[in-house]
Amino acid sequence: MGKARITPGLTARLAAGPVRRKVERITAAAAAETRDRAPDAKTWTTAPDGRARPSHAHADGQTVAENVSYKLPKAATAPDGTPVIAPGYDYASRPRDPRLPRQQSDGCRCHSIPLPGELARATRITPVVVTPGRVSASVVCEYHRVVEAEFGSSQDAGAHFMGQAAQVVAARYRT
Ligand SMILES: [Zn+2]
Repeated sequence: MGKARITPGLTARLAAGPVRRKVERITAAAAAETRDRAPDAKTWTTAPDGRARPSHAHADGQTVAENVSYKLPKAATAPDGTPVIAPGYDYASRPRDPRLPRQQSDGCRCHSIPLPGELARATRITPVVVTPGRVSASVVCEYHRVVEAEFGSSQDAGAHFMGQAAQVVAARYRT
């Protein structure tokens, strides 16, 4: 008489159907909650005449989540009076942010262009992976400085949109 043995591989295959469907449902729900909570984005844009000071020209096109500060290279003035870039950064939520030194805000004609739905569109689900004893999938948001958007920094408060989405969905599916 032979001996029956359930290998880890077989266990995974037996469980994979229903567990996989449950993981897919939970992951889809977490992605939907993440997209609902994701902050919009914004992009720093200089006036189109090409006369922006160097620190602002450097920031032209910089795109971050709405709750994240732009990083502007520090501004300085050369001995001949020409504006130049200096080492280090100033942080600004928008052009002419009161946090900026006057050298960065006086006479600034830049704009912050809102980009609705950018982080929501950058949120996706990884395919379900079945390994022995584990069925997993993830919600991923890939975006410039998204870690600061989620958790915050010394400059900005985090939006915690992924953490809150995970909490809400975990509460919903708790058995
Ligand atoms: Zn400017």
